[in-house]
Amino acid sequence: MAAARTPSVPTAGKPLRESSVELVTDYLETPSLDDRSYRVVRLSNKLEVLLVHDPQTDKASAAMDVNVGAFSDEDDMPGMAHAVEHLLFMGTKKYPVENEYHQYLSAHSGTSNAYTASTSTNYHFEVSAKPSNDEEPSAANPSPLLGALDRFAQFFVEPLFLANTLDRELQAVDSENKKNLQSDQWRLHQLEKSMSNPKHPFCHFSTGSFETLKTIPESRGVNVRDKFIEFYEKHYSANLMKLCVLGREPLDVLESWVVDSFSVVRNKDLPLNVWPEEVPFTKEQLGVQCFAKPVMDSRELNLTFPFLDMELLYEVQPSRYLSHLIGHEGPGSIMAYIKSKGWANGLSAGAWPVCPGSPSMFDVQIRLTEEGLKNYKEVVKVLFQYIALLRETEPQEWIFDEMKGMADVDFKFKQKTQSYRFTSKISSVMQKPLPREWLLSGNSKLRKFDAKLIKESLDCLRPDNFKMTIVSRDVPGTWEKKEKWYGTEYTVEKIPADFMEELEEAAASSANERITNLHIPHKNQFIPTKLEVEKKEVKVPAPAPHIVRNDPLVRTWYKKDDTFWVPKANLIVSCKSPLVYATAENTVKSRLFTDLVRDALEEYSYDAELAGLQYSVSLDSRGLFIEVSGYNDKLPVLLEQVLITMRDLEVRTDRFTIIKERLTRAYRNWELQSPWTQIGDYTGWLTSEHDHVIDELEAELPAITAEAVSRFRKELLGQMHMELYVHGNLYKEDALKLTDMIESTLKPRVLPKVQWPIQRSLIFPPGSNYVWKKTLKDPANVNHCIEYWLYIGDKADHQIRAKTMLLDQIIHEPCFDQLRTKEQLGYIVYSGVRAGATTYGFRFIIQSEKTASYLETRIEAFLESMTKILETMSDTDFENNKRSLIVKRLEKPKHLDQETGRHWSQIHSEYYDFEAANKDVDQIKPLTKADMLEFFNHYVHPSSPARAKLAVYFVAQAKSDVTTKQISELVKTLQLDSVSSAQAATDLQARLSAAGHDEEKEIEGLTTYLLHELKVPENKIEAATEAWKGLHTQTGEANGVVKDAEPPTSNGTTATVIEDVRGFKAGLAASAGAKPAKDLSEYEELDAKL
Ligand SMILES: [Zn+2]
Repeated sequence: MAAARTPSVPTAGKPLRESSVELVTDYLETPSLDDRSYRVVRLSNKLEVLLVHDPQTDKASAAMDVNVGAFSDEDDMPGMAHAVEHLLFMGTKKYPVENEYHQYLSAHSGTSNAYTASTSTNYHFEVSAKPSNDEEPSAANPSPLLGALDRFAQFFVEPLFLANTLDRELQAVDSENKKNLQSDQWRLHQLEKSMSNPKHPFCHFSTGSFETLKTIPESRGVNVRDKFIEFYEKHYSANLMKLCVLGREPLDVLESWVVDSFSVVRNKDLPLNVWPEEVPFTKEQLGVQCFAKPVMDSRELNLTFPFLDMELLYEVQPSRYLSHLIGHEGPGSIMAYIKSKGWANGLSAGAWPVCPGSPSMFDVQIRLTEEGLKNYKEVVKVLFQYIALLRETEPQEWIFDEMKGMADVDFKFKQKTQSYRFTSKISSVMQKPLPREWLLSGNSKLRKFDAKLIKESLDCLRPDNFKMTIVSRDVPGTWEKKEKWYGTEYTVEKIPADFMEELEEAAASSANERITNLHIPHKNQFIPTKLEVEKKEVKVPAPAPHIVRNDPLVRTWYKKDDTFWVPKANLIVSCKSPLVYATAENTVKSRLFTDLVRDALEEYSYDAELAGLQYSVSLDSRGLFIEVSGYNDKLPVLLEQVLITMRDLEVRTDRFTIIKERLTRAYRNWELQSPWTQIGDYTGWLTSEHDHVIDELEAELPAITAEAVSRFRKELLGQMHMELYVHGNLYKEDALKLTDMIESTLKPRVLPKVQWPIQRSLIFPPGSNYVWKKTLKDPANVNHCIEYWLYIGDKADHQIRAKTMLLDQIIHEPCFDQLRTKEQLGYIVYSGVRAGATTYGFRFIIQSEKTASYLETRIEAFLESMTKILETMSDTDFENNKRSLIVKRLEKPKHLDQETGRHWSQIHSEYYDFEAANKDVDQIKPLTKADMLEFFNHYVHPSSPARAKLAVYFVAQAKSDVTTKQISELVKTLQLDSVSSAQAATDLQARLSAAGHDEEKEIEGLTTYLLHELKVPENKIEAATEAWKGLHTQTGEANGVVKDAEPPTSNGTTATVIEDVRGFKAGLAASAGAKPAKDLSEYEELDAKL
């Protein structure tokens, strides 16, 4: 332990610093509006720390980045670094209770997370920034940050790796891996790794599984816990750690706390991790084409070029010059050309670092159309022709200057992000060899134009220095190989000589041999030039916008920014029309219309996007939704073009075909997503009066023609009511002018008020008990899912809201601790408030290999145990929970967009309750434990006759879990001695569930294991595998398998399984529509003169 010390007091302008603490710098290059102060220090153990004093922040935070990751895993134990990240939280000598840290954070509005990357592991948390007396924190009156820091520090001082938590955490790692198994992003990334140089750590499988981290090492006689401790001892050292701490306390106070808690982190003076000996891709792994089969119906062409090591090139960042041009979508670009040929839906390009000492990678990723897939060779040739063009055109300083100018503007007006995002990000940046003064700006700013370095980096983009992957479910139709960890099917071969020759030709082509459409971009007209902000100090920012125009056609809300002072604005228009959701067919037509508008604007809007100006045309729950946001200078220019395109859009058959095909796949792919991301849509559908789920939309799409969309567009834009919000660095006159522009361009007829759409939710009477089931479409998905939803009441009732939110706050941590940590039901365990359009409810979501009905029994068992938790909760804990919730509810917006979003959600919901947070808090404050018990026992407790429940069950098609009983049957056939039997039973359980329910892989794994690990004689193997197959057919019948049982009936009601959704909805009453919190005239600030 560090000796206790008195907090340092500034004297003569210089902080009094412990002699052991070295001041690195107290000057950082910052955005112009940044009101924080910064200091970088190095402790006596060489731990480098960035201290941040933020006088305004709601949340304090800290992040520790440790310079070790999956690249340091031992070859025969993939996932070690990740497992250590999980186990590190499991108790420390000073705080031995395993969930002490999480409990502490949860009681102080906090949250935490961690991630493991290739060369670093990052741990972070955030917590309420003010002490419980709500006064400014100081050394004498510390915020909860002090306690959190001390708990956090212990992970790096003396973690226990508690033995009894080991299996559970490895199960958590295992379900994390299972969650990723069907994700193409993970699959394709691992495929790339698995095909790389086996001598470079890039080839590692980084997540790990129960098999790689326990079953296999234990079968070799390894004590895995010792291994993890050894890994920690070997790689965790203060000199390789970077800490970032942000709080409301003065820098001197933060510094003294850090010294107290972190000086004892051991310094082993380890060398920096660098990998200079091998490269990720040698000649052997380059010049290849790989065909990979995705889970989703997608088509991609991915090209990878080994590039320069960018670690020290932060001043020039030559890759950004190249990705700017290659990734451009404006006239003359690769994308504009291949799109005009009907070959591509998207293109992106950019470099990413692999690790210090190794070359980075430059990737070009193209999303192909059906035609594009047929012509993929042509697409690659276009790319190399463009590269030839770049080689011929010397690096252009004006292009660099344009990029540099925009990067400077973006950095200058950079707004704050959430505290823990900031600390987590910056602690990882601290691992880079940047001058410490540039820790905030180093990655954002471009500083030096260096033509030579740009040319050198362009030289990496050669046909003899790349590999490519063609991702498609149809081509080539057969895949010879299977990737080891994710089972991705693929084939790989050298690029055929004739194709390679064509690429060499393209790369060496002269101007007259190239496609004439290709040229470098023109000057960007969207670069903002007027960046002035008129700042008027206000005591208290206005809580609500005003109505500046209100007539039968349009209602415009407006607020001049009075908080953030950035030269930016947001404009949102909701074009309300009953047509959009009248039928599923209309919804699909509207969706196609918005897709076609965006498609038509792509080339034009790209420059705007580069210049920090974005737009969106989509659907909201009442009609069409238009948004333009960013630097306000050129905002009207972009808005006008968006409106003109909507009005004049010519629905061309060739584009329509491509867009429709893309939407067809998008619908199909949506159903292949993780179950937990789909389930909410069905709950929303079953609890609202009018809604369409994807199944309905998908059924309508095939019949819709280009003419139908064209006709529908006229109807849609012909009559509507518009509600607008203009917020930011604009004046009232600007808001009115923009409104006029919309009106005069679209010229819609007035939609009479009586026809404005009304949204209603369904009301579930006391005692309601429903189940709705759906079989998931993805045949390979092994995960079931449940959304367990309780109806509570009216969304506008602030009593109901306050109690439901407090319940959420109280339940959150014990729910996670029980259902995820202890029971290990699955990686996704979630509880929280779920609001409909007009009603309020509470839900649980669990994604698991266990069936939904089993999950429901576990949720109810947990809820039964909650009564006791509530009853025995100390008054301090109860008050802490209330405080924690209040702090969260009153959290101030951090940037302009966040404030716009909050206001817009009130406008769009039609409650116009801009002071909802304060009203909620007024209701939360007086709540007592007795109130909460009464509320819980009435609305939530499974035995309450008043409880109203809907459970949505998702049923996975893949086999359900292997049971212990099945395993022991199998082991019996092997006639082993009792010690081996016990070992075999544990190993097989993990091994077979790790196989991801792929029977071939299971049998293969089983055979290898029996033969090599258990040394079962070969003549018994066949009998054992046969027995295994036999057991499979009985799955679901054997003892111990949780069958698709009836839902629990603890309150005496039996669940009604919904078979007929219309009948079910017809049986329920619909709520009243939203009612404005105040008469809207109170917000009006109409001017006679326009
Ligand atoms: Zn993890």
